[in-house]
Amino acid sequence: MPTPAGRVCPVPVVHRRWRPERTLLYRLVQTHLSTWLTLRDDGLGQSAPALSEREFRRYLDCGILAHGFARARCADCGHDFIVAYSCKGRGVCPS
Ligand SMILES: [Zn+2]
Repeated sequence: MPTPAGRVCPVPVVHRRWRPERTLLYRLVQTHLSTWLTLRDDGLGQSAPALSEREFRRYLDCGILAHGFARARCADCGHDFIVAYSCKGRGVCPS
């Protein structure tokens, strides 16, 4: 299919954004993170490790366009699309 740039994209690519907010893991973390953090903090100095809390909070921002994105362009056809930023976490995030 010819493009506005006058070139033909050899393989039409439809970029489908990953939607973490639709996954069971995301909804589970979103729903229960604050409860878990509250229950884990027993008032005796035992609380959730800061790393765990940070990983979970970053995971909730991962892939959500409202938390940042980049615009990309197909070098072949010039089609623009957006890519949401990733949390780059290794503990919780499956992306
Ligand atoms: Zn992530």
